[in-house]
Amino acid sequence: MKEQIQTLGTALENLGPGSLAVVTGAGISQASGIPTFRGTDPEAIWRQSDVALATFEYFRRDPVGQWQWYLQRFEAVAAAKPNPAHTALVQLENWHTLRGGTFNLVTQNIDTLHEAAGTRSMIKIHGTSDRVRCSQVGCSRGSPGGSLVAAEVRFDDFIAAPTEQNLPRCPECGSILRAHVLFFDEYYGEHQDYRFAEAEEIAQSADLMIFIGTSFSVGITDIFLRAGILKRIPVFSIDPGGERSSPWPDLTVLPSAAEELLPEICRHLETHQSPSPTADSPH
Ligand SMILES: [Zn+2]
Repeated sequence: MKEQIQTLGTALENLGPGSLAVVTGAGISQASGIPTFRGTDPEAIWRQSDVALATFEYFRRDPVGQWQWYLQRFEAVAAAKPNPAHTALVQLENWHTLRGGTFNLVTQNIDTLHEAAGTRSMIKIHGTSDRVRCSQVGCSRGSPGGSLVAAEVRFDDFIAAPTEQNLPRCPECGSILRAHVLFFDEYYGEHQDYRFAEAEEIAQSADLMIFIGTSFSVGITDIFLRAGILKRIPVFSIDPGGERSSPWPDLTVLPSAAEELLPEICRHLETHQSPSPTADSPH
């Protein structure tokens, strides 16, 4: 791991006050007990057959079934705590912005672990588990800009008796509420909260990219990877199984667990501050 610390540490030091873009996927939350979507861990819940559950088509056909599935998943997400990888990214944000650099995190995760850890500059490109929204497009609580705090919506009746009548409903128009997440059969432009245009700008203006725990199987990783390739900037992927599945030969794969590697990188950066030439002399 020493070599990996050196490689990424040096790249971050050489970046100076440039633009650092970090893209995180389910792999970063695995150490917090949230199963990955398409990972190889035995608990990966997002197997091919399950992808069908996270679609608008399924929501329309069987909202009761989809809400039961989501509530189960959101329960696991709500109980999870940030792990050392989330914490180290906050340290990295502080370190880099103190040097005058720009830090942006784009996460594919719907959990709330980055915000719980204290990350400031972040886009949740696939939505969030702590909000819901009205399924009626154009309603003030639905697309394109509306949503509700999930904790303020009563799910008790539905949990006690999961029927169509007990589904949570919009306080504004009475339509059925839906998860505030991007379904597989929807587009990033579906809701303003996904902040897709901003994410594209971040990809275009990045001087260094770090992917963490992503399987490169969603649109947003393609957009970042393509921008990185075209601009010929340093691109890293922290992924314990990444050597087997690198989508691009010029991608520097660091085959470590993020919760182990990232804290070491931060330690390296903090003990390795290049002192100014005049302050350096002992005499
Ligand atoms: Zn509504």
